[in-house]
Order: sequence, then structure tokens, then C-alpha cells
Amino acid sequence: MKKIITGLLVLSTLTFAKEKILVQGAMDMEVDYLVKSLKNPTKEHIGSWTFWKGDIGNHEVIVSRTEVGLVNAAAATAIGIEKYHPTIIINQGTSGGHDPKLHTGDIVLGSEVINMGAIRTERKENGIKENMKDGIFFDVVQRIRDKDENLVNYKSFISNESLLKVAEKTNYSQGKITLGIIGSADQWNRELERIKYLNETFKTSTEEMESVAVAQTAKAFNIPFLAIRVLSNTDIHNEDFNPKTALWCQEYTINVIKNLK
Ligand code: SAH
Repeated sequence: MKKIITGLLVLSTLTFAKEKILVQGAMDMEVDYLVKSLKNPTKEHIGSWTFWKGDIGNHEVIVSRTEVGLVNAAAATAIGIEKYHPTIIINQGTSGGHDPKLHTGDIVLGSEVINMGAIRTERKENGIKENMKDGIFFDVVQRIRDKDENLVNYKSFISNESLLKVAEKTNYSQGKITLGIIGSADQWNRELERIKYLNETFKTSTEEMESVAVAQTAKAFNIPFLAIRVLSNTDIHNEDFNPKTALWCQEYTINVIKNLK
């Protein structure tokens, strides 16, 4: 009897109905293929953000071009939620490697997403040299009211477990798929010592500029969230930005969406 109940529970966490999915990319090259893949698309501009609504497989999909950076991503997410009432939010796109084991084309599923730019420092007097390693992570800004009306500080945000499971099982041929921590900030870091410091401090697999803003906003509305980031570049291995990775990430994301059933 116990076995049957366990089996049913596992099954229930992996079942998806006809969902309404908000799927985001920052730049044109990160949404073009998603938009092309929509059946019966309609386009809408709200403020400086663009949304395309249509179908993919069994699901209603709203593609959102968030534009680059945390502020853009948070605003586009809040607008997308209020306007379209999604049941799932997927943020996907390019990123830069922090983990020496990863190469361009590999995909990181954000089991955790962290705001690695939320840093304060203790006072230092004039003449005392600044040092990024004296930065202290600042988690109070990510304070959200939970369902019991308590204010909770979040150090980081997580992707939905059921969505991660489907994504992990989805085929991808351009590289490997790993679970990892995605670090977001309005930064593009190319100094190897700095990348090493960030990787050691935050345990980040890769960096980009949007996911945490989306994860935090999705959490505030209690909407299941998934972060999918392809490595488009990694200075650790001297691999420069490869725009084809943006296409690969969208192809994979579409397969994840089709596997939500
Ligand atoms: N238009 C800009 C490019 C912006 S790239 C230019 O021509 O200079 C920034 C985008 O790429 C962000 O959306 C970010 O999420 C992503 N990105 C890819 N690799 C990155 C890296 N190594 N560090 C930070 N962001 C990265």
C-alpha cells in the first residue's frame, strides 16, 4: 500500500495540464526562434516591452522579450504576470561560464538563482585600499511576504522541482545539461580572478543579467519558475560569445515545453 501511495505522489508532481507559460529572453536573438515557433501568434507592446502570444504543443505560450538587465527583467515579469496570468514562468538565454567543468553549449538548469551583485561593505577610511573580496552578501532586499503573511528574507531563489525534473529528462545534443547555481547581476565579468572569486563565493556555474529578477518576482506571486541558461561564452576556456547558443537554448526550451504533460 505504501508503495502505491509513493508512486502516486511521484506521478502527481510530474503531471502538467494545459499550461499558460510565460517564456522569456532578453535579446532578439534569444526570442526570435521561440516567436517563429508559435502557432497563431499575436503581438503586443506594453511600455517598452514586447510580448507574443500563441501555442506550442498543448500549451498556451507567451514569449516575452524582457530586454537586458535586472530592472528590465523584473518589470517585464510583473507586467507579464498581471497581463497574462501565467501558470509557469521560464527564463532562458545566454550566459558566461563560472565553472571550469563547463564549456560553451552546455546548459545550466538553475536549481538555485542568486543576486550576486547584492553586496555591501564595511566602512574603510581614506587611503585604505578597496578590495572586492571584502564585499558582504546582502540578502535583506529580497524580502517577500509568504502565504502566512510573514516577511521572509530570501538569500536565493529556486526553480520548481517538477519543472527541473522534466528539463533534466529533455534531450539536448549541443552539450551537457547540469543543475547549478546561476548568478545574476548587471555585470559582465571577464577577469579570471574575479570569475574564480565569484565561483568560490557563490558556487555559481554561470553568470547572466536577468534570472534572479524573474525568480524573485515569480516567487512574490507564487508562480512556478524555471531558469535555463546556455553557456554562450566562458573566459575560463577562452571561448568567446557564440550567438548560435541562443538558438540552441530556445530549441531545447521548446522541447522542455512540449514535454510538460
Ligand atoms: N547588447 C550588448 C550585449 C548585452 S549582452 C552589447 O552588444 O554589448 C548581455 C546579455 O547577455 C544579458 O542578457 C545576459 O543575460 C547575457 N550574458 C551572456 N553572457 C554573459 C556574461 N558572460 N556575463 C553577463 N551576462 C551575459
